[in-house]
Amino acid sequence: MRVVDVLVPVALDQAYSYRVPDGLELAPGDLVTVPIGPRTATAVVWVENPRPNPRLDNRMKDVEDKLDVPPLKPELRNFIDWVSRYTLSPRGMVLRMALRMGEHLGPARERVGVRLAGPAPKRMTAARSRVLALLADGLARGKADVAAEAGVSPGVVDGLVDEGTLESLVLPSEPVARAPDADFARPDFTPAQSAAAHALGAIIAGGYSATLLDGVTGAGKTQVYLEAVAENMRRARQALVLVPEIALTAQFLDRFAQRFGVRPAEWHSQLSPRVRARTWRAVASGEVSVIVGARSALFLPYADLGLIVVDEEHDPAYKQEEGARYHARDMAVVRARGAGIPILLVSATPSVETEVNARRGRYARVHLPQRFASQHLPAIEAIDLRASGPPRGRFIAPRLAEATAAALERGEQALLFLNRRGYAPLTLCRRCGFRLACPNCDAWLVDHRFRRRLVCHHCGFAMPPPAQCPQCEATDSFVAVGPGVERLQQEAAELFPASRILVLSSDLVESVDRLRQELDDVAQGRFDIIIGTQLVAKGHHFPKLNLVGVVDADLGLANGDPRAAERTFQLLHQVIGRAGREEGRGVGYLQTHQPEHPVMRALIAADRDAFYTSEIALREQTQYPPFGRLASLVVSAGERPAAESYARRLAAVSPHVDEVRVLGPAEAPLAVVRGRHRFRLLAKSPRAFDLSGYLRQWLAASPKRKGDIKLDVDVDPQSFL
Ligand SMILES: [Zn+2]
Ligand SMILES: [Zn+2]
Repeated sequence: MRVVDVLVPVALDQAYSYRVPDGLELAPGDLVTVPIGPRTATAVVWVENPRPNPRLDNRMKDVEDKLDVPPLKPELRNFIDWVSRYTLSPRGMVLRMALRMGEHLGPARERVGVRLAGPAPKRMTAARSRVLALLADGLARGKADVAAEAGVSPGVVDGLVDEGTLESLVLPSEPVARAPDADFARPDFTPAQSAAAHALGAIIAGGYSATLLDGVTGAGKTQVYLEAVAENMRRARQALVLVPEIALTAQFLDRFAQRFGVRPAEWHSQLSPRVRARTWRAVASGEVSVIVGARSALFLPYADLGLIVVDEEHDPAYKQEEGARYHARDMAVVRARGAGIPILLVSATPSVETEVNARRGRYARVHLPQRFASQHLPAIEAIDLRASGPPRGRFIAPRLAEATAAALERGEQALLFLNRRGYAPLTLCRRCGFRLACPNCDAWLVDHRFRRRLVCHHCGFAMPPPAQCPQCEATDSFVAVGPGVERLQQEAAELFPASRILVLSSDLVESVDRLRQELDDVAQGRFDIIIGTQLVAKGHHFPKLNLVGVVDADLGLANGDPRAAERTFQLLHQVIGRAGREEGRGVGYLQTHQPEHPVMRALIAADRDAFYTSEIALREQTQYPPFGRLASLVVSAGERPAAESYARRLAAVSPHVDEVRVLGPAEAPLAVVRGRHRFRLLAKSPRAFDLSGYLRQWLAASPKRKGDIKLDVDVDPQSFL
């Protein structure tokens, strides 16, 4: 009897033994279906089991079937094991990310098409003539496409088929993406760009290496790293380009198409199940040569991955905070090393981790020093809110308003940046001081006036604005405190009544397509003022934008996060870098209460290296990452005493090791989320220490969790709330 251990994509660490029925050829990596309780699940053969537990013999079930898809290669299986060990996530949960192709792995569905075949129909209608006009060239098209394009119901097309005017036929299945041409449109590079492209091209041949492509916003980093993608293409290998957010893929897709003649395949959460399944298959079979995707694309079963690019590598969106908690940039380096292939990390403001690796020679650095000839970095000026702030109840200082007016007069665009969604972060009763708070969380409700809702940003709780104060019963007594982008829009509309204003904020995004359209409208100059959250800070190229005003530059500095200064520097640097990318000189204004803060000083002096040098020194002194390792443990429960007492007992059983300091438990800054009380513990160790191994040992000794007590472990945490 042959037995294999299969891993099921559910939140379990352990593989299960199944008998291999006679005649079924199975090897590790094969995708199979197995019975689990009453249902059937897709799973992966992980290892042969030469000595199955004899006690299980008569309870063991048979593998049902083998799926007709390429097996997961050892490289990917090792990667899954590694990520699981490092992040302490169950292996099945990590595997699930590699198998996110939905339930559509069966044979591809036939596409029905139509084309012109016979004489015109006896009865002609406007709808029919639109269909016939569309098909007049004699080419075959998808039936649904014809109906959609001609603006008729499918019945109209069917009617024409019935009368013999059209014939239906089976169309060949459409490829997920057509083959890109490495030499379709070779760019005109400046000497500096050529040198950088050449350096990147050279790493393609050399096995594993990590390289930081470091260049200011607008220096042409994308065009340059596409040359590495081209070189990889010429070797007929696959490339993965990771981007932090789906919205960012749009411009990448266009640039890619300009360079290679076609768009690459995409991978993100908004693909339809059918496209997802087809893309997964095409990646596994090697049919797709380039994938651009969000972090989950890192777990796809590439047939022959030759290159990974992590664009905007410093972006916090690369950290997945739910399910398996992993950092896609760090895990991308792990996958590249395991696969023996080069990885490129791309940023104008590298993470401190990456900057340190580059300074110490662990990563190579390819530098792109300047913008294209006609471009200059924006001039940055601080507006000291203590001395020259806006009038009471207003948020745009006179200096910024003046500069915006002047920019609009010149026919240029202005971007007002405020990293706060909604209308106001806090609503209180003018009469009794009552503050509207979330019933489930330790957080204020945010006024979202466009949607007429008060919303909790932590749990999603939402309610209409109350007519009267719940405490003193006064009516019309609520006032908004502080600004959000929606309130800024109101102020801008009053200051600049003739201008066309667009608010870009993730909560207002209806769909990726709609967002792409709006970004394109901005690029085409259909708006004068853009008011946006961090959604606008990233990647987008707006040629008419010459002024960026940061309405609250201090916003990110005061949250107790060890990366607060780094994040603020990166975000503000990036958003101001949106200005003046095409012509003229951009200007940036920082409204701040602390113009002497190192972040503001570095931004104003355009002295990036000074910022990194001081930040790195601080991290080294405090032994924060990358000089030390951190892991957080969050204990939560519906009742505060239960959470607190479990957290204390957990702390008490932490293994005593010289290298590790355990801090806490302390009540989390966000003390209650979704009705659960939270306590945090932090483990801190030197860089070279195996902190994941320590945590495993600790958790093995942890007291049993009873009731609704939950423990979340986060290795290399990015959030400290
Ligand atoms: Zn009141
Ligand atoms: Zn809430």
